[in-house]
Amino acid sequence: MSKIEDFLSAEEEQEIVEAIRISEKNTSGEIRVHIEKTSEIDAFNRALEVFHYLKMDNTKDENGVLIYVAVEDKTFVIYGDKGINSVVPSSFWDSTKDVIQSYFKKGDYKQGLIDGVLKAGEELQKHFPWHHGDIDELSNEISKN
Ligand code: CA
Ligand code: CA
Repeated sequence: MSKIEDFLSAEEEQEIVEAIRISEKNTSGEIRVHIEKTSEIDAFNRALEVFHYLKMDNTKDENGVLIYVAVEDKTFVIYGDKGINSVVPSSFWDSTKDVIQSYFKKGDYKQGLIDGVLKAGEELQKHFPWHHGDIDELSNEISKN
């Protein structure tokens, strides 16, 4: 994989954005996807950096979740804000990770991200259901480096 553009086509990206939109219809949680070529530091620390950079730590209920992907490193991280971590077990994202991993192994990045986003939404919904007056606090567009 030489270029980040080769990872997902514009159409595929839009399908993922749509999955985020659908997920956020059922939860007040805010899901974002960030894709970059490689991480120069530990992927988890990089995810944390991106989380702050995207101002994802500014949601009202502290329930933003970032799916960070470093394409060439073949790695990804799911990072949820402290509002989530304070009410869920540490294994909370395992099912979402498994979904993403199973598709990434087959090289199906688009489906991995779509199903991962939908799964994350389902999990978030249990603790942070959508409520009347909920607003879209964070852009659903995919962020890229
Ligand atoms: Ca929202
Ligand atoms: Ca959003």
